[in-house]
Amino acid sequence: KENAIQDVLDTLGIKQMNSGAAVGSKWMNTTGEEIKSYSPVDGAYIGSVKAASEAEYEAAITELQTAFKDWRMMPAPKRGEIVRQFGEELRKYKEPLGKLVSYEMGKSYQEGLGEVQEMIDICDFAVGLSRQLHGFTMHSERPNHRMYEQYHPLGIVGIISAFNFPVAVWAWNTALAWICGDVCIWKPSEKVPMCAIACHNIFNKVLEANGLPDGINALVIGGAELGKKMAADKRVPLVSATGSTRMGKSVAETVGARLGKSLLELGGNNAIIVTPTADLKMVVPGAVFGAVGTAGQRCTSTRRLIIHESIYDKVKDALVNAYGQLKIGNPLDENNHVGPLIDQDAVRMYNEAREKVVAEGGKLIVEGGVLEGEGYESGCYVAPAIAEAENHFAIVQHETFAPIVYLMKYSGDVSNAIAMQNDVPQGLSSAIMTNNMREQEEFLAHCGSDCGIANVNIGTSGAEIGGAFGGEKETGGGRESGSDAWKVYMRRQTNTINWGSELPLAQGIKFDL
Ligand code: NAD
Repeated sequence: KENAIQDVLDTLGIKQMNSGAAVGSKWMNTTGEEIKSYSPVDGAYIGSVKAASEAEYEAAITELQTAFKDWRMMPAPKRGEIVRQFGEELRKYKEPLGKLVSYEMGKSYQEGLGEVQEMIDICDFAVGLSRQLHGFTMHSERPNHRMYEQYHPLGIVGIISAFNFPVAVWAWNTALAWICGDVCIWKPSEKVPMCAIACHNIFNKVLEANGLPDGINALVIGGAELGKKMAADKRVPLVSATGSTRMGKSVAETVGARLGKSLLELGGNNAIIVTPTADLKMVVPGAVFGAVGTAGQRCTSTRRLIIHESIYDKVKDALVNAYGQLKIGNPLDENNHVGPLIDQDAVRMYNEAREKVVAEGGKLIVEGGVLEGEGYESGCYVAPAIAEAENHFAIVQHETFAPIVYLMKYSGDVSNAIAMQNDVPQGLSSAIMTNNMREQEEFLAHCGSDCGIANVNIGTSGAEIGGAFGGEKETGGGRESGSDAWKVYMRRQTNTINWGSELPLAQGIKFDL
């Protein structure tokens, strides 16, 4: 291991062999299988984790239940102060944590830093929110009565996260859940366990400095089985799960069967519509970053470009030209645009998708391929590909988590492009590039994009934390992060108070004794 990486691991408290379960600063003697983490950047072994087994999960839940009783009684702005301190710690650790994200997951160092910045931003957002968490008041139909609604903490929030945002998704959930008075248990992706250990250690510094109960925050590392256990657990009133649609369907079914709540953030199949008035100098960088950034492994990555036939060739040529200039290599080197895929399984799926699109009648106009030789020893580097395809192809309807973008033509007006954009099972992010006000408004109207995110003259990829984040249809319907997304972490109660000396019933019902 390079010295620089070893320093990062030491700074973040990551050892060669790590426990996979902790409640606050108490790391348990875990007994599950060994999970080995290798970097997709250079194929080097980072370290191991002994996964959490059922016994450790149970111990964590018991401690969380106890801690919840204290935590929920702390005034929300005081909980906000804890989250403020967490944001401060993250500022201190931004560089090493950003580097670890880049090294363990493979995204560029800039994007790794960006992920930590999102954690900091959501902490700031949550601090302000901790003085709000407001309900409505309404007028009662009965005299001398007051009616209002309030929000109370839910209890234990279970968080299941995906490999591609190894740290930010956890913070989006926890920063809000904590100020809402909930305690959290996190099952991160088994593909990026070291990032999770680092986050847990950083929050522990805040818990310890404030003498707070350990059970405000727990970490359990393991595979799908552990996630399934959490989904089935009645003691976890809310399960927030980020990952594939396949996983989301399983979680929704299990949580639904016990009438629990789930917040689902699942796959996308995001398109940019390029209309005749689009500004090409914005289309090209927007589309290329969207398609190849994070090596196409963002839930908001651009998968489809729906281009008006009158400018199709021009856009296609500009894209092919831009792809020719992409530098692929070590994501810690800021000169590179594209890093590796997460593992060789992802490389296999990338290859299969390229084969399938051709088998269905599509054409690869930028071939792509797996890269070999110096710097590519991990076997996880691929060249981004562009294929001409049709929207109804099975492979186009499916989210392939890799840098492959499908080009398709539309003719006539923008409603035809919107129909194509909506004609996929997923509904996460969408965009239109246009300078025509009517096209823009139609895209944003109720007959327009059916996605949770709809942008104008911005690509599909990425989002700010101030807005609610999530999507419709097979993306799962959940909303996280900004706006009023906090409400999902609380239970809602309507209160009616009679301050008079009579007992009138609602709807004027008479009941005389
Ligand atoms: P994945 O579904 O393979 O795994 C995600 C997490 O779910 C992991 O922690 C995994 O252990 C767990 N898991 C798997 N099966 C489970 C089950 N049956 N029950 C409970 N837990 C289970 O996804 P991935 O490959 O890590 O991530 C890529 C996917 O995540 C893509 O589809 C991407 O679009 C999606 N994603 C969505 C968002 C969003 O906000 N909409 C954000 C990031 C990633």
